[in-house]
Amino acid sequence: MNTKEKPQLVEDDVVVTMRYELTVDGVVIDSSDNDEPIVFIQGQEDVIPGLEKAIYKMKAGEKKSIHVTPEDGYGEIDPEAFQDVPRDEFPSDIPLEPGVELEMKDEDGETLFATIVSVDKDVVKLDFNEPLAGKDLYFEVEIVDLRQATAEELDHGHVHFDDDHHEED
Ligand code: ZN
Repeated sequence: MNTKEKPQLVEDDVVVTMRYELTVDGVVIDSSDNDEPIVFIQGQEDVIPGLEKAIYKMKAGEKKSIHVTPEDGYGEIDPEAFQDVPRDEFPSDIPLEPGVELEMKDEDGETLFATIVSVDKDVVKLDFNEPLAGKDLYFEVEIVDLRQATAEELDHGHVHFDDDHHEED
């Protein structure tokens, strides 16, 4: 395949540069106006499934409003993912208040993220669900640029930038 030829449409194995704005519960919570546009390989599950599905066949310069349901976004809320932890297990420098997000390690040293749901005298209730689980996501997207992924990028499963040549298995 000639990798110099620009693809006309979003398809699998195309590197997509995209601006977006994400609104949840009526509030813009993330936007590429502040950050750089995101760059990813279509069809590699680099973005949530609902977004990937909705942008197939879009052209460079095209804009679209996309509604992603929890099923195609960050999943439904898992009622099993709540946990009560004795208050005295927390170091004293952690502010124990509802809404505070914590980074923790499990027994295997894996990093877990949790949000404090409630605090009482003895027990802190934690929510280990992804913060956007159960949420309807409303995206405004604009396809900025499309190019064919290189064989090396497809082999690695991620985008390479000009200053990002590296060796990898
Ligand atoms: Zn690489």
